[in-house]
Amino acid sequence: MTVTDTRPARGRRRTDDGTPGGRIEIRDLQKTYTRNDGTRVPAIDGIDLEVEAGTFCVLLGPSGCGKTTLLRCIAGLEQPGSGSIAVGGRSFYDSARRLSLTPQDRRLGMVFQSYALWPHMSVERNVAFPMTTRRARGSFSKQEVRDRVAKALATVDIAELGGQPISALSGGQQQRVALARAIAFGSDVVLFDEPLSNVDAKVRVQLRQEIHALQRELGFTAVYVTHDQEEAMELADTLVVLRKGRIEQAGAPRQLYRTPVSRYVADFVGTADVVEATVLGPAGEGQVRVRSTIGDLVVAVPGGAPSTGAEVGVVLRAEDWRLAAGGPTGETGRNAVHGTVRDSAYLGAATQYLVDVGDVTLRVRPQGSALLAPGHELALTIDPTDLHLVP
Ligand code: ADP
Ligand code: MG
Repeated sequence: MTVTDTRPARGRRRTDDGTPGGRIEIRDLQKTYTRNDGTRVPAIDGIDLEVEAGTFCVLLGPSGCGKTTLLRCIAGLEQPGSGSIAVGGRSFYDSARRLSLTPQDRRLGMVFQSYALWPHMSVERNVAFPMTTRRARGSFSKQEVRDRVAKALATVDIAELGGQPISALSGGQQQRVALARAIAFGSDVVLFDEPLSNVDAKVRVQLRQEIHALQRELGFTAVYVTHDQEEAMELADTLVVLRKGRIEQAGAPRQLYRTPVSRYVADFVGTADVVEATVLGPAGEGQVRVRSTIGDLVVAVPGGAPSTGAEVGVVLRAEDWRLAAGGPTGETGRNAVHGTVRDSAYLGAATQYLVDVGDVTLRVRPQGSALLAPGHELALTIDPTDLHLVP
């Protein structure tokens, strides 16, 4: 197989039978933990997922939704209850065939939140470690290990730290070592479990850009766990939102952002308010009129109109609101609402206002630099195509 290959060629690696090396296929995966008191926790509850070779897949969801368990099942660190996992056409786990490869035989790179480095060993020895285990030893000559370590350290920009003990490094530097270890092996797939959670905010943003660039350059398939939606949006080709061990929605970040299937996804991806509404009926081609808690709204429904009388939620994105030009009472047209500024927060790129509209408080980030004081009355408009309905 490909383990003795040097660096993956740019783009996708291919196995002998011509299928992309790092394509991941997960079928009907289940994993239930049994707690000490005998209660059973369904951590993974029927997951089907395909990740194309050479793409960046991000698993997003709140604490406890099963992200780490799914990653550990792929790595072979956790034994699923049933289902199957294959990478590059090679079966890693298949309950029907009672097959399960050891973590070593899966040859994946892994980067953990906790770095998982040997503190007493040098940087170089840590990076070399997976290539020097008994199982891998036959695959790499001593010279090749040295070359791979040097190249990996240079790639993550810490060539000068090779001889240092881990204990002498900062958190950000330690995570670079873990990253070097994950890529030195030349794996087709690298798994990341909240790798930047313990790193300073500033270093975090830089490192995630570097991880992205590295993935693009080396062409491995990345599966990256985070609960940070900004990180998820920036990194993902495919964003997978998990909820209680199931996939709530998977797709391109833009797709999840513009057309979330549920309030849960709308809430998790971007800044959204969801207001309750009842469908009044059609309002022209591809649009419906709804009666909502902030007034009547016309909403584009490209995917088809829900039936009249249906109870729905209207997803409102803070940045889609426009300040009406005519002042608080000037705008009375379509999708105009009138409100009062309650509070504001300066976010650098924009100012976010909390605007009371009746009993509802909306988050509003209008374009432009108008500064609105609390108590200011205003009219806001929003385009029907920027609105989205969820059940
Ligand atoms: P996440 O990484 O999304 O925070 P986890 O995969 O760690 O979630 O956990 C998913 C669920 O499984 C949670 O309810 C958690 O309490 C439970 N769980 C995780 N590991 C164990 C374990 N070793 N024993 C029992 N329950 C566990
Ligand atoms: Mg976790």
